[in-house]
Amino acid sequence: MTLAGKKPNLLDLSFHQLEALLVSLGEPPFRARQVWQWLWQKAVASPLSMTNLSKALRERLAEAAEIRMPRVAQKLESSDGTVKFVLDLDEGENAASIETVLIPEKTHYTQCLSTQAGCAMACTFCRTGQMGLTRNLTPGEILGQILVAKAHLAAVDTRLNLRNLVFMGMGEPLLNYNNLLQAIEALHHPQGLDFSTRRITVSTVGIVPGILEFGRSGMGALAVSLHAPTQELREKIMPKAAKALPLNKLIETLKQIPLKPRETITFEYVLLGGVNDSLQQAKELVRILSHVKGKVNLIAYNESPGLPYKTPDPAAVEAFQKALWDKGITVTLRKSKGRDIFAACGQLLAAHEMGEEKE
Ligand code: SF4
Repeated sequence: MTLAGKKPNLLDLSFHQLEALLVSLGEPPFRARQVWQWLWQKAVASPLSMTNLSKALRERLAEAAEIRMPRVAQKLESSDGTVKFVLDLDEGENAASIETVLIPEKTHYTQCLSTQAGCAMACTFCRTGQMGLTRNLTPGEILGQILVAKAHLAAVDTRLNLRNLVFMGMGEPLLNYNNLLQAIEALHHPQGLDFSTRRITVSTVGIVPGILEFGRSGMGALAVSLHAPTQELREKIMPKAAKALPLNKLIETLKQIPLKPRETITFEYVLLGGVNDSLQQAKELVRILSHVKGKVNLIAYNESPGLPYKTPDPAAVEAFQKALWDKGITVTLRKSKGRDIFAACGQLLAAHEMGEEKE
């Protein structure tokens, strides 16, 4: 969790680890609640700013640990209100660059969070997938994205809250499973960021055993990046994921996840023009969904420089959506926001590294 020669980052500690640290400094365990509030509700930059602690404790804490927040390298605002943050993490050989996106909705904001710098899954339509994996994010780096977004909102828009979190940014969340779980546990803490499980969604291409463990944990909703209704096509557009967990096994695995009466599994399906958007493919998708209690989010692909896919024809999108509706499947056509700043689905990447980003 910590780098050699560096002090521990308080943002990387679980609540219990923070209690243990304070006990080691001669404090009672309950002191952790105060420190936790300073970290996650007041977002202070240093233990020295925790003014309801004694001066001696503040100094001992600052001696033992520090607070390292992601640094905002770029903030790009779209004409539709979407904001993408390019964040720099850590330094030296552990330096990494990630992105997180804040999306305005009618009544609240949703934040799309990254769990890895880059991604090893190499899905062929995804810009992040072309980078390869740099490294996993620590729990504090995952949660630090939320602190950055909250600081931005406190400065520019206090009318609407950040309410929903989707782990759909850079990386495959279930390949950074332990850090993801620690971050989500911290999110639920009432003295901390205090997000309800109903407001948290983890999106995965389907990684075992994490998909089953997370699905059974009740810690958040599950979204599955399906993107193809047959194993053959899935192998073409997301070969690593399809080979690691073939489609029939993915569906069998999903059937084992217990769902409460109103819960469903969301299937993400990016419509790639002329590739996976035919009526025949819609029928095949209906057949798959007859086995799982699921709903579908359709996303019309955004063309991306250097990738071979095309935006689907609007008529094909409409027909695909209708084919699902007609079979009683709940389907949403998700508007891809932030297209003009490369913040839309499948477009996340430290594009400034490639000299393509607009200021
Ligand atoms: S779609 Fe998700 S899993 Fe696939 S390469 Fe992109 S970030 Fe990784």
